Order: sequence, then C-alpha cells, then structure tokens
Amino acid sequence: MLYRSTRGGGEPLDFERVTLAGLAPDGGLYVPESWPSLSREAIAALRGLSYVDTAVAVMAPFVEGVLSREELKGLCTAAYGRFSHAAVTPLAQVDERHWLLELFHGPTLAFKDVALQLVGLLFERFLANRDTHLTVIGATSGDTGSAAIDALAGRAKVDIFMLHPAGRVSEVQRRQMTTVLAPNVHNIAIEGSFDDAQALVKAMFADQSFAGRFSLSAVNSINWARLMAQVVYYFYAAVRLGAPEREVAFSVPTGNFGDVFAGYVAAKMGLPIARLIVATNVNDILHRALSAGDYSVGTVTPTAAPSMDIQVSSNFERLLFDLHGRDGAALKQTMTGFEATKTMAIGANMRAGIADLLTSARIDPDGMALAMREAWQGSGQLIDPHTAIALAAAKSADVPADVPIVTLATAHPAKFPDAVERATGQRPPLPGRVGDLFARAERYDTLPATLEVIEAYIAERAVPA
Ligand SMILES: *Cc1c(COP(=O)(O)O)cnc(C)c1O
Repeated sequence: MLYRSTRGGGEPLDFERVTLAGLAPDGGLYVPESWPSLSREAIAALRGLSYVDTAVAVMAPFVEGVLSREELKGLCTAAYGRFSHAAVTPLAQVDERHWLLELFHGPTLAFKDVALQLVGLLFERFLANRDTHLTVIGATSGDTGSAAIDALAGRAKVDIFMLHPAGRVSEVQRRQMTTVLAPNVHNIAIEGSFDDAQALVKAMFADQSFAGRFSLSAVNSINWARLMAQVVYYFYAAVRLGAPEREVAFSVPTGNFGDVFAGYVAAKMGLPIARLIVATNVNDILHRALSAGDYSVGTVTPTAAPSMDIQVSSNFERLLFDLHGRDGAALKQTMTGFEATKTMAIGANMRAGIADLLTSARIDPDGMALAMREAWQGSGQLIDPHTAIALAAAKSADVPADVPIVTLATAHPAKFPDAVERATGQRPPLPGRVGDLFARAERYDTLPATLEVIEAYIAERAVPA
C-alpha cells in the first residue's frame, strides 16, 4: 500500500514514512493510492471478534508491506489494553433506534485516545530502527494535547512540545497535560488564543532554518495513521448492529472532519453505511459547505463544545480530493484559490456525488442543552456537549425508520462538568482512573505568543535531527 499527497506532489510513500511525516511537503494530506475493500464475507467474519482482532482485520490493508499482522496485533493489544472498558468502544442504547458509541474509555477521556494510543506506539516502533530523534510540535484547544501527551510520554527518541492558550482550556484539560512530568513532555501556555498557538506551529513548520535543525512532526488529525485507527470502530459498531445484512447510520460531532472522514473510508471499504450525519455547532462551515456548497471562512464563536469551534476543517481536503476525481493537480489549484480568498464554492454536481451518503445539521446551544436533558431524563445517560450536538442531529435526521442510528460519543461528560450540570442539574464525577488529577503537581511554562521566543525555548530543549 502506497500513499500520495492530495495535491499531487512528490513520490508515493509507504505507511511508515507517511506516519512519521504527517503533512506532505507540497502542503497536501496523504491518502491511500486506492481504497482497499472488504468483501461481504470478510465483514460478516468480523462478527464476535474482539476490538483488537477487528482492528487488525480492518487496518491490515493500510499497513501492508510495513507491518505484519502479528506486529499489528501486538501494537493494537498494547494500545487498547490501556482502555478501561473490555469492549474498548462499547455501544449504549438510548432508545429504540438510537445508540451511543462510547469512544471515551481511554486514558484522557476523549475519542482521540483511540487513535493516538496506537500512533504513539507506531512512532516508537518506526523510530527504533532509525538514526532520528523526532520533535513533535502541536497546538491544542484541549483534547488533542492531553491524548498526544499521554501517548508519547516517556517514549524513546521523541520529544513533544504542546502549545495551549493560557487560561482558555478547562482545568481538567490543562491538568491532564501539565501533570505528565516525563522529561520528553514540554507544555507551553501561550499568552494568546488557540488560533495564535496554531499559527505559531504552522510558522515553525514553514521556517526552513528552524525546521531544518530538527525532525519536526505533527500529531493533529492531518496524520493519516490517526484516521486509519478511527475507521475500526465504525466496523466494530455496525457489525454488532447487524452489518453487513443491515445498514447502519452514524452521526458524528465534527470539527476538523477527521472522525467523520474515517466513516467515509469505512463506507468506501464496503461497510453498508446508510448515512453519515455531519453534526456542527454554530461554527457551521461544514454544514454550509455540504448543504449549500458554501465553504467560506467566518470568525470562530466560542461554545460549550470547544473541539468543534473551528473554521477551516483540515481533513475536508481529503474528501475534496475524491470529489475532484482524485486529480491532485486540479485540487491543488482549488486549494491555492481557497487559501488566497478564504472561500470556495462546491458545485451542485460535485455535491450530488456524496449527497446520498453525507448529510449535515447545525445545532444551536438550545438544541445541545435539550439533547443533554433528554438523554438524562429518557435513559439516565449523561452526555458531553459534543455528543449532545451529534445526538440532536441524529434525532432530526431524515433516515429510513428501520436503520439504527449510532451517535459517536466523543468525550466523557466529566471533561465538561459545567455545561453538563447547567443542562441536567447533574455534575458528572471524574472516573476513578484519573482520580488524583487535582492533587498532582503541574509543570508548564507561560510564554508570549511570539515566534522567536517559542523557537528559542524549543531549540534549547529539543534534540537536533
Ligand atoms: C476532536 C473532537 C471532535 C472533533 O473531531 P474531528 O475529527 O476534528 O472532526 C469532537 N468531539 C470531541 C470531544 C473532540 O475532542
């Protein structure tokens, strides 16, 4: 299996190189040269398999030529052994037709653990045979930072520098990052917004003299390995609800379009998905794009679901690549235009190709709070704001009545206790496995949001390439 850039540049690379690189040098994202497919029989054979065995069956085609099935199984066993639920991503029933796919049983209580626990092990494994020391740089509004830090803490040949906006992540989120005291973990609180932090990371990647001194890498959802790991739970859930004989729909709380794109990949591989519902909050660029063809950047409105407060959805480019007939040169032209004007029209004929599979919904704060309240009153379930937005979208979706709808529950409610309490009157307790979070010592530095200061800080601590 080889991968190429969505913008057509460079040589095709194998899974190992693509994992370590993150972003392609021409600014594109890596995608497989073709979508592998699982036959109906192969999908039926997933029935009753453990999460790890399902993961091996689904991911094997993507790592072919780089990892054997045995090696893949070893890595999955280690990654998913750290989850607190034996089913790793269990389904919970909400009512006759609605289900929650609980993706928050990992170490940092958000779905990002499902991918990053594996990616941390892949990094270590691929670096073992190389004379390279990786410097991972990232910006986080909360969940990615803690999941990446947990996955990389103490691993050989990797340092991680994580920038978060000072005072603008929840205390649980900050402590999940700053109480990890492994010497290869470096937390930086930026005096600025998440956008400032993200702009600094982009500037460091673009600064050739800085980037040239270190082997920089990224762990945000542009990394293909993360998406690949997320394809697994679509199969795992659908098979439990009757696939391949029965179609299943999924509703996905969406920010960077990574999670829902993994569902698109599952559909491309042959999983009978009746519908993927792209749920957004009031930051609705994806809803406007899918429903009206209007992909134009506005300003971010902060909400109770911060992981969906985005304007540019980086993984949307992977879908656009398919919509451009997998023509990298054509997409490069489109993306260059978009980067200049911050707006892009997606023609009706292009949208028609995916309209049967992908629909969207925009849920406002009242709709979100109502979904939290109904879940609590109807089935005694506390759900987090991101999950609530997707559940509200699922309930308003126009999907045939005999198709079960699975809402991806992307965060544990205890990560957002204030919003949950406002909507339901219940304050969700932190699960035991993160119990003494508030008693642990923190370590981080607060720095101004200037490139020179941040680069100097990193250069002092990182290991040159
Ligand atoms: C990251 C995140 C999302 C958005 O996922 P994308 O892959 O960026 O679309 C939704 N909910 C939670 C809790 C998250 O942490």
